[in-house]
Amino acid sequence: QQLSSPELRSKFIKYFEKQGHVPVKSASLVPHNDKSLLFTNAGMVPFKEYFLKPSSAPFQSATSVQKCMRAGGKHNDLDNVGYTPRHHTFFEMLGNFSFGKYSKAEAIDYAWTFLLKELKLPIDRLRVTVLEGDQEGYDLWKKQGLPDEMIVKCGPEDNFWTMGDGEGPCGPCTEIFWDTKDTSLEDPWLEIWNLVFMEKFRDSQGVISDLPIPCIDTGMGLERMVCVLQGKQNNFQIDQFEHLIRGLRTLLDKRGLKSSTAIDPSPHEKIVADHFRSMCFLIGDGVVPSNVGRGYVLRRIIRRALRSAKQLGLNEPFLTDLYPTLLQGFADGSYPELATRASSIRSIITNEETAFLATLDRGMVILENVFAQSDLQEKKQIPPHVAFQLYDTYGFPFDLTLIIARERGWDVDIEAVEALKQKQKLAGRESWKTESIADKSRLSEWKSAHIKPQFTGYDHALLHQESE
Ligand code: ATP
Ligand code: MG
Ligand code: MG
Ligand code: MG
Repeated sequence: QQLSSPELRSKFIKYFEKQGHVPVKSASLVPHNDKSLLFTNAGMVPFKEYFLKPSSAPFQSATSVQKCMRAGGKHNDLDNVGYTPRHHTFFEMLGNFSFGKYSKAEAIDYAWTFLLKELKLPIDRLRVTVLEGDQEGYDLWKKQGLPDEMIVKCGPEDNFWTMGDGEGPCGPCTEIFWDTKDTSLEDPWLEIWNLVFMEKFRDSQGVISDLPIPCIDTGMGLERMVCVLQGKQNNFQIDQFEHLIRGLRTLLDKRGLKSSTAIDPSPHEKIVADHFRSMCFLIGDGVVPSNVGRGYVLRRIIRRALRSAKQLGLNEPFLTDLYPTLLQGFADGSYPELATRASSIRSIITNEETAFLATLDRGMVILENVFAQSDLQEKKQIPPHVAFQLYDTYGFPFDLTLIIARERGWDVDIEAVEALKQKQKLAGRESWKTESIADKSRLSEWKSAHIKPQFTGYDHALLHQESE
């Protein structure tokens, strides 16, 4: 069955509405009143309080398509993007939730019926996992008619779900996998749906207790399911990404650059397309590029996209030219902010892009000077202090220095540069106090410019885990 992304969105919601679930619109990527979390990373995040206290929920069960971002914190897929068939930074999660209304048996039955009856997936390409020791879960799958070899027992690292590292609702889960039959993959089994039995609460000390009433939280990746339904090799070949990749390739052609015609996009093409979606949705939800917190993650995402674009030959601002192809993928109007906030999304991206390209240009001048120095011609080594200065003073990413050096047949003493970074990091710790004052004044600047204030609790952790 060849369903499109919009068709799957509405089929899912309609199915769960029919089963008495209240459809709820996607919440923002910036969690409300939740300082424990950088971004909304799962469909359950907006409902967190309801799991803790089901009597406070305005409905007993709900269904949603939730915007998710996994580019920081416990669930961080930033480095996976472009290199696995199934990970994005921004993606959509389809989910159904019960706040004390139904339990494991119904959750399993709804999911299995949806896959087999509504989507008509062939049963012989599915299998499930349960948490070791969860006999009830195991028996429920047996009751659905699954033979033992289709039910795999896993440990808590895979089958005990928590939203982050801090306190919050959590619980054992059962996951549904699809056999891609792709022998080129290390693991041909694709995880498509996670059913979490939200029964526990973990406090900030890591102590686990029972929730007052067992709840249900499920999450299915929209892009992954569309990939299965459209018979594609990976998520980057589904309808929405086809638009983006075609847009990118057309743009390369227009600029007289070599574009690929391969069915499977290259890692750099995938990174540009993925990160472009993320930056648009983040800005759409009020995040602006900065050196702290969420804004810093956004800035990194934009820079990573530009670095990949550079590898494709793009040296001039181009990102917003892709905007129409992004809108094409969401033409069903499921995210109206993409249209209503289009001009601010586009101008914030172009500003950031222009500034970073200028940084790259300044860095290139410095590097060209190094390449031209006669006393370095023999060793062809970029002096570590220059590579460090590029990174530290000019914001020129170190891995870009490496790539450019190697293109010229030069080398960099990575360890020496790392040592300089380390030294700087230690010195930096001393200056945290003054930094945070600077952050505060930046916040008030934003406030007066009517830009939503950003949570800055992650500032230092983020700044100092930074590897660029
Ligand atoms: P994986 O093991 O593949 O990284 P996960 O176990 O981290 O996935 P969950 O936290 O269980 O994922 O999230 C529920 C569902 O959301 C997954 O079953 C998958 O379909 C989807 N999903 C998770 N991470 C991503 C991602 N980075 N990009 C796209 N879809 C995702
Ligand atoms: Mg994961
Ligand atoms: Mg998993
Ligand atoms: Mg999972």
